[in-house]
Amino acid sequence: MLRADRRNGGPDYSALDPCVHCGFCLPACPTYLVTGDEGDSPRGRIVLMRSLERGEMSPNDPGLLEHLEGCLGCRGCEPACPSGVGYGRGLEAAREQIFHARGLSPLARLVLGVFRYGKIWRPLFAMARALRATGLPRLLSGRGRLGFGMGMLASSAEMTEQAEKRKAVGQQGGSPLGGWTGGQRDSGPAGQQQHAGEVRSVSHTDPLSRRPADPPTVVLFRGCVMNALFSHVHEATKRTLRVNGYRVIEAGGQVCCGALHEHAGDVGSARSLAAVNVAALEDRADFIVVNSAGCGALLKDYGRLLGSDAAAKLGARVRDVSELLAERGPRRGAAVGLDVAYDAPCHLQHAQRVHEAPLAMLEAVPGLRLRILPGSDRCCGSAGIYSVLRPAMARAVLDSKIASVAEARPRPDLIVTGNPGCLMQIGAGLRAARLPIGVAHPVELLDLSYDEAGFYE
Ligand code: SF4
Ligand code: SF4
Repeated sequence: MLRADRRNGGPDYSALDPCVHCGFCLPACPTYLVTGDEGDSPRGRIVLMRSLERGEMSPNDPGLLEHLEGCLGCRGCEPACPSGVGYGRGLEAAREQIFHARGLSPLARLVLGVFRYGKIWRPLFAMARALRATGLPRLLSGRGRLGFGMGMLASSAEMTEQAEKRKAVGQQGGSPLGGWTGGQRDSGPAGQQQHAGEVRSVSHTDPLSRRPADPPTVVLFRGCVMNALFSHVHEATKRTLRVNGYRVIEAGGQVCCGALHEHAGDVGSARSLAAVNVAALEDRADFIVVNSAGCGALLKDYGRLLGSDAAAKLGARVRDVSELLAERGPRRGAAVGLDVAYDAPCHLQHAQRVHEAPLAMLEAVPGLRLRILPGSDRCCGSAGIYSVLRPAMARAVLDSKIASVAEARPRPDLIVTGNPGCLMQIGAGLRAARLPIGVAHPVELLDLSYDEAGFYE
């Protein structure tokens, strides 16, 4: 039986040391809320991880595997913990130990193998884009496994394209999304948005007055899924950053960030991918901008993953797009009159601890009626490749979020969230529930607002 040994560089479980088994984290755990089983709770999983560390349980124990593989890795339990337990670090250690003992399941090996090599995922995603362009995924989206997958692909389309197609097939149901592509303007008071039922006042300070003489340089991290299916978000990222005084450059030679591999315990593959990205991005710019929360969380952590000064230096310069824009105000655009609900990606709020910047970005869009719905801080069930490996639990976790959206009055026109997996998972869930609500990355709304204001002419 493999026993964890920190002294020899083995998995490090010390982040779990502060746990006093109080159970305050239980109500924050999406899987525990679904099953009510202590083994599906953070506290129960910590007990299992400690047993694994001490060698009291085998990495092949079916019960241990069931509960640890059933964890979303969302880290929603961390902010709920009064003792400061680093649950995510403990989970990484356990999954690394299990990976070394028994490898990956055939399905996980297949999926992670695809993302390991650009020569495989690039043509596969090109085929997915071609399929998306036919409109079939939108028509075939539904509740079954195939229908849900089609809904995910359909939800990766540009928000304006989604709105146009919904209108064309008569699924609009009266949503203002139909008029959105023409740039719906709102006659309400600019500078006021609704947030959690309250109207928030927004600063009208011109952020451009705070620009330094030399614009900071930003290099875009392209990633894999984001680059293949959400290139429109990359374009929106570049345009909005430029409007706010950044000089945006591109860098070739990038690969998948490695987050999917690290979360599965395949730290060796994650390190190989990270090393390629460090070589591609180091010393290229003042900042590395990322618009995918999952990728951003790992890029910021490359120093720990690789243990090199170059990786740590690079990690310190990584920013979510919302952080860079919030740093500059950001500049306000033209009004866009939509009801929008913000859903916080787990790896932005819990892993990166970025809370206010996405809201500041949305508040720069006058006329937007911005809300935070109940449960918006809870995982959607996407969780990297979790929704592929454990679709039943992923859907059960998603259902409570979709129910919260369905109950909201007024019903939002759009759910915005800054992670590709969340966009596709929530988008597919909305389609399966036949709710005429779109999904978009927050930067797409700012981009639309800037376009309406004529900033790109
Ligand atoms: S992780 Fe934190 S909140 Fe959960 S049982 Fe341990 S000490 Fe309590
Ligand atoms: S990471 Fe998420 S799913 Fe896992 S124990 Fe914590 S809250 Fe529950």
